[in-house]
Amino acid sequence: MSKPLPNASDFLPGPVLLLGAPGVGKGTQAKHLVEEFGIPQISTGDLLREHRKNHTPLGMMADELMAKGQFVPDDLVNQMVASRLKQPDTEHGYILDGFPRTLNQAEWLDGQLVAYLLPVVAVSIVVPERVLLERITGRRISPAGRIYNIYTNPPKVEGICDVDGSKLEQRADDTVEVFHERMKAFNQKTAAVIEYYREHGNRFAEVNGDQDIDDVTRDIRSTLLKLRHHPEA
Ligand code: AMP
Repeated sequence: MSKPLPNASDFLPGPVLLLGAPGVGKGTQAKHLVEEFGIPQISTGDLLREHRKNHTPLGMMADELMAKGQFVPDDLVNQMVASRLKQPDTEHGYILDGFPRTLNQAEWLDGQLVAYLLPVVAVSIVVPERVLLERITGRRISPAGRIYNIYTNPPKVEGICDVDGSKLEQRADDTVEVFHERMKAFNQKTAAVIEYYREHGNRFAEVNGDQDIDDVTRDIRSTLLKLRHHPEA
């Protein structure tokens, strides 16, 4: 039997990065951590979709790139994250989901975090590529951002959110074709970001994302506790 974990009720994980390929479960897991620790999720994908919905200049610029599965330019994404990090709810920590995705973004983030109380910890969620396609094409999302999967985590009633009865939607970029483009961008650019954080061995851990959602949450939670209990000497 594994050892019981320390009580997490008074534990604040500080700034946490969830890293991994499209479909590994960053968004799903971030939402669980938000519930448990009361710190916000900052998803650059969600922020960009919000801009797109509101037809802001950034949203209009990002629209075509997102539809093709390509990255939005670093400067624009960094600026967007900078203004989100200024909000007071990030004071005790936050979960960055989908950022940084390039080395340039990672280096920029290092500069932003200098004044922060705790160093960032990075958790890389790992799922075999063959599983990701099913995850991506099966994904359905409620307008409030609840994430389902028609194969592995279906709603009770097809197409309807269990919690608020709203109609589930499929992301426009959750198609087979765009998935391959997104994987290409991940392999070309984000894989190096994971190596960047792996080099800080005591602030980095890998978690197996190819398990039940709750088991992944349990592993991330225990990983965060371990990473924070063994700070850099
Ligand atoms: P996601 O919801 O994280 O899968 O992101 C959806 C899309 O938004 C990505 O395919 C990119 O086009 C764009 N995007 C999200 N986060 C970033 C980022 N950190 N850097 C560049 N583009 C991003």
